[in-house]
Amino acid sequence: MEPDAPLSPSAAWIAQLPASVAMLMGDTVRYANAAALRLLRAQQAGDVVGKSVEAFIHPLDLHRSLARLRHAESGGINPVTEIRAYACDGTPLMLAMSSAIVVVDDQRAVLATFLDMTERAAMEQRLRQTDEDFQRMMNTMQDVFYRTDAQGITRYVCPAVKNVLGYTAEEIVGLPAAAFYPDLSERDALVAEIKRHGAVRDFPGRMRRKDGVIIDISISTQALRDERGNYAGVEGIWRDITERKALERRLEHLATCDSLTDIHNRRSILTVLEQLLQRRASLSVLLLDLDFFKQVNDRFGHAGGDCVLQRFAHIIRSEKRSRDFFGRLGGEEFLLILDGADAAEALQIAERLRASVNAQPIALQNEQVVALTVSIGLTQAGPDDSSASDVLLRADRALYRAKQQGRNRVCCG
Ligand code: GH3
Ligand code: MG
Ligand code: MG
Repeated sequence: MEPDAPLSPSAAWIAQLPASVAMLMGDTVRYANAAALRLLRAQQAGDVVGKSVEAFIHPLDLHRSLARLRHAESGGINPVTEIRAYACDGTPLMLAMSSAIVVVDDQRAVLATFLDMTERAAMEQRLRQTDEDFQRMMNTMQDVFYRTDAQGITRYVCPAVKNVLGYTAEEIVGLPAAAFYPDLSERDALVAEIKRHGAVRDFPGRMRRKDGVIIDISISTQALRDERGNYAGVEGIWRDITERKALERRLEHLATCDSLTDIHNRRSILTVLEQLLQRRASLSVLLLDLDFFKQVNDRFGHAGGDCVLQRFAHIIRSEKRSRDFFGRLGGEEFLLILDGADAAEALQIAERLRASVNAQPIALQNEQVVALTVSIGLTQAGPDDSSASDVLLRADRALYRAKQQGRNRVCCG
């Protein structure tokens, strides 16, 4: 089909056009308006006019561009296409070109218009680069980067989440972040902290994996705000610290527990006592020493003695109140701290423990039975006591009296 007969505007008209226009015959540029010369950084018209289009088009786009010129010459109208080009000074350009046939002085020519897309192309390239960098970073990250909206719905989570929670990112996006918290109050505490301070660092929490296992996590995250400054969700990173936590707990246990009896060791129970004294709490302190323990060792051997120590610790542990602190000072000497018990109460408890040990002969593995008794020195500790050693000295004196008075008894000091 023949196209509509093209108009023939005057050259002056085209020269003033703010858009870049060129006229081509064959492969030669026959006319370029002022805007086109500016775009191609020409010093004078002769830098462009009379030259072959090949001088301005990137080799990779040349074939396509020439084909379009031929198409326009044969009456076709070319939609906008992007071509890589060079200005006269060699500067690379990205041009959006459209072209159509015109008749000038009875000659057919191709009228081409150009838009400079170089800035946009550069911006797109930068954006693509940024996006690729982001994706690469997210794909290699071990920690979990995530973003939620103001309603707490997960909007983004990086692929690492699969290794940590067992869910794919696709399974999580669209769900409330709270769905993965075994204890909702922990998530509430996190969000409250973020809203208050704008961000949190190494905030502790826990999450439930797809297989149901609860893991320890550490969250560093910040609040997102919309253009008006309203809370718009959170963005940050969380890290699986289950192994670190487990190791910390093991180390803590090793550092504070007596390996034979699994109660507080000497340093730990004395630290507890110091801390309680600093809090100016009202305490009762019991110093317990097994009676004639050397004889136990002599009769049943050191291993038998160890077994008796374990059984004794077990008896006291199961009979003490849950809020009391029990530790082994060393050998067969133990400390029991009764938090918030007055003298009468403490005496009652001490008496009950003594009677209980007395009433439970300890069976050893080889069916031998040890009749065990314990002597207890009891003292009160309060605001006047400045150090644990003062308190221990009083308890020790009371214990000495209990031994003096025949053992298997409680003395107060
Ligand atoms: P008393 O009634 O006066 O307290 O007499 P005792 O025999 O208990 O005397 P003493 O407290 O002086 O002796 C404690 C003994 O406990 C001495 C030591 O051989 C033994 N002993 C200390 N530590 C351990 C231990 O870890 N395991 C065993 N089996 N025995 C220990
Ligand atoms: Mg002793
Ligand atoms: Mg003893």
